[in-house]
Amino acid sequence: TQILHVIGGGMAGSEAAWQAANLGVRVVIHEMRPKVGTFAHQTGLLGEMVCSNSFRSDDDEQNAVGLLHWEMRQANGLIMQIADKHRLPAGGALAVDRNPFAQSVTDALMAHPNISVEYGEITELPEDGQWIIATGPLTSSALGQAIAAETGAEALAFFDAIAPIVYFDSIDMSQAWMQSRYDKGETEEERTAYLNCPMDRDQYEAFIDALMAADKTEFHEGETAGYFDGCLPIEVMAERGRETLRFGPMKPVGLTNPHQPDVKPHAVVQLRRDNKLGTLYNIVGFQTKMKYGAQAEVFKSIPGLENASFARLGGIHRNTFLNSPTLLDQQMRLRSKPSIRFAGQITGVEGYVESAAMGLLAGRLAASEILGAALDTPPANTATGALITHISGGAEAKTFQPMNVNFGLFPPVEGFKGGRRGRKDRYKAYTDRAKSAWHAWLKAEALDAA
Ligand code: FAD
Repeated sequence: TQILHVIGGGMAGSEAAWQAANLGVRVVIHEMRPKVGTFAHQTGLLGEMVCSNSFRSDDDEQNAVGLLHWEMRQANGLIMQIADKHRLPAGGALAVDRNPFAQSVTDALMAHPNISVEYGEITELPEDGQWIIATGPLTSSALGQAIAAETGAEALAFFDAIAPIVYFDSIDMSQAWMQSRYDKGETEEERTAYLNCPMDRDQYEAFIDALMAADKTEFHEGETAGYFDGCLPIEVMAERGRETLRFGPMKPVGLTNPHQPDVKPHAVVQLRRDNKLGTLYNIVGFQTKMKYGAQAEVFKSIPGLENASFARLGGIHRNTFLNSPTLLDQQMRLRSKPSIRFAGQITGVEGYVESAAMGLLAGRLAASEILGAALDTPPANTATGALITHISGGAEAKTFQPMNVNFGLFPPVEGFKGGRRGRKDRYKAYTDRAKSAWHAWLKAEALDAA
């Protein structure tokens, strides 16, 4: 049978190779390290964790990333198996001993009879055969350029500029209201694309003070700041002048507050719908380098967001990623060249666990195609399915930014009360539903292969 080539032996590429090899397909991993390095990787090992040593929450009942752990374990995932083996005590989080972890990932892949590893940088897009590109946020520049030539430069980003994303159901709509500026938009969907939170003068002044005083993170070495134009961090805008934001993303024009139609707001924070489900909204123009704790505090001072819960906080990083909603199909194939799949962070997911999960899926989909057994993508009510559904079309393409797994990506479950108790029951309902759907998907796949 045909060989599957995987470019990049990080979180996603390692998992993709393992999954495909276990389905009986021969795999070649092409990894540029240690010959060519990145600013973040330190070793030549496969599956290296570039920064923290945590796979985040391991709670598979109450947490979406914990659910992703569970799904990968059920699917014989390599990254999870080895993480469990090298687990360090860390409360409810799954932290691992990073060097033994990467060494074990490398050893397991090298020992697999269906896998071989070729060291060296790939600089061109492949013409023939079946490929998975899993070269991550620090894809080498030659390959990045080759990808951009295929996709169009505007569809491949080299930095992310992430504005915080808020769960719609945590926004206080007795203060906020839905309206697009100057009531632009033809359809109901367009008119409900924006939410607005008003500020009076005192609130605005206090907000500017809090922004300037907040703790910020530094850029990693090797990250240049040359991409700043057009996506300045909000605190940098505030430092340029106290009125800059009021004339920028917080301008109060073209909007009328239905709760107080006679009072003209001094400034308005706008949120834009972030997914088709309407469960998530991002705060427009609020990309930031503030530390997470500081962000939550500062953003909760915005009227209407006092009880906001965040699907993700903001950030700005070096990050190569595709505009997947326009480029990839549900099978993770490049629409314009279906013999190439993408997996991992380059598809616009964010995090070790999410990247590994997208590798798991790409490996299985590619192997099934090679073996002539069609495999459906898992349903959107599983964590893996929610991610692939989001990146391959559920997300708004125009404002697409990398995404962590979270319950806002799942089709909602109805009928739960608010408050702590209600939320707990609701999350349990999400994870119960996901687990039975994931088992059904794994079973259907096994039958297909038989
Ligand atoms: P990677 O794990 O980076 O794997 C990609 C592989 O492709 C690398 O081994 C690379 O050497 C190789 N490669 C690149 N180009 C080529 C080429 N042309 N030819 C051959 N091989 C190539 N996520 C977290 O969950 N926690 C964190 O703490 C965290 N910190 C991060 C810090 C930094 C500085 C960065 C950049 C990202 C961080 N991430 C973090 C985000 C992300 O989840 C990880 O980068 C994750 O490793 C992504 O998995 P991946 O498989 O997509 O890419």
